[in-house]
Amino acid sequence: MSILAIETSCDDTCAAVVSRDGEVLANVISSQGVHDRYGGVVPEIASRHHLELTGAVVDDALQQAGTTLAQLDAVAVTQGPGLVGALLVGVATAKSLAAAHGLPLIPVDHLHGHVAASFLQPGPIEPPFLILIASGGHTLLAHVKDHGPNWEVLGSTRDDAAGEAFDKGARLLGLGYPGGPALQKLAEEGDATAFRFPVAAQVPGLDFSFSGLKTALLYKVRELGEEEAARRRADLAASFQRAIVETLARRVERAREQTGIERLAIGGGVAANGPLRERMRALAPDLHVPPRELCTDNAAMIASAARFLDPLPYPSYLRLDAYATGERGL
Ligand code: ATP
Ligand code: FE
Repeated sequence: MSILAIETSCDDTCAAVVSRDGEVLANVISSQGVHDRYGGVVPEIASRHHLELTGAVVDDALQQAGTTLAQLDAVAVTQGPGLVGALLVGVATAKSLAAAHGLPLIPVDHLHGHVAASFLQPGPIEPPFLILIASGGHTLLAHVKDHGPNWEVLGSTRDDAAGEAFDKGARLLGLGYPGGPALQKLAEEGDATAFRFPVAAQVPGLDFSFSGLKTALLYKVRELGEEEAARRRADLAASFQRAIVETLARRVERAREQTGIERLAIGGGVAANGPLRERMRALAPDLHVPPRELCTDNAAMIASAARFLDPLPYPSYLRLDAYATGERGL
């Protein structure tokens, strides 16, 4: 028995089929390349593309999983947070598929999905553990006590998310969107100790702040001047990346000291970053990190979270609506 999940919170149109015990039977991700030229996601364009792609992506997922809607347990869908128009395409599709096939519907919070990527096979991590979710919209350090959505937030960002810092830094260095992977690649040719950027800005407790770091990069680029900055782009990228990774690592280190919990997982798109993975592995040798395609947005993680939530029976879910901003107020 298995769950079909649909995820359309941003610019990736995703559908997946996951079995009750967390095996990924299909994980289809269609990325909308059209946003690159605008330097960021254009919400209206994202919604229109989801409308065009969702049907085919769902068909692909069912076919790859070798199943049909009639054989499923339930349909799950990302309810929020995200771009509301984009989310609505997924929610409407999920509702109609579920209603047409007499299936229950399971609405899922996108962040619960990023956490639940760690519960997928092979080798799922068992609570309790600490998790760092670093994505395009969130930077969250939490104590996960069970499989549900009620983790304890230990720290979150005061301003930019870690992924946003990567994206904005990449833009300053003339790289395309999304900036994280491009910046990582450029940094491979650079010296991470060439420039000193601020690490773990002065915010209390376990919170994060990245806006100062972004400003420091901007000033450094201006100080160097256009030609010199262009010549030293790889050094700038490597040093900037190192500052983000160090900021994240120091907060995680402190959280482990404060809570005494040693088991650690990372998730969210920034967890795809190689140097971050290495740094976290140095901290926690048994670090749990999902494969890259389960770190960035995908529907398998949404199906995974759905396994631990109560399904809504027909017709109660017909009134379900998407939400744009974090129910959790992050
Ligand atoms: P949220 O989950 O908060 O709603 P989102 O869904 O846009 O945001 P994800 O898909 O989880 O975010 O992650 C996308 C972010 O991850 C982007 O900011 C991107 O630059 C960053 N990212 C992806 N790969 C890498 C990488 N290799 N190195 C650094 N950052 C990366
Ligand atoms: Fe995400």
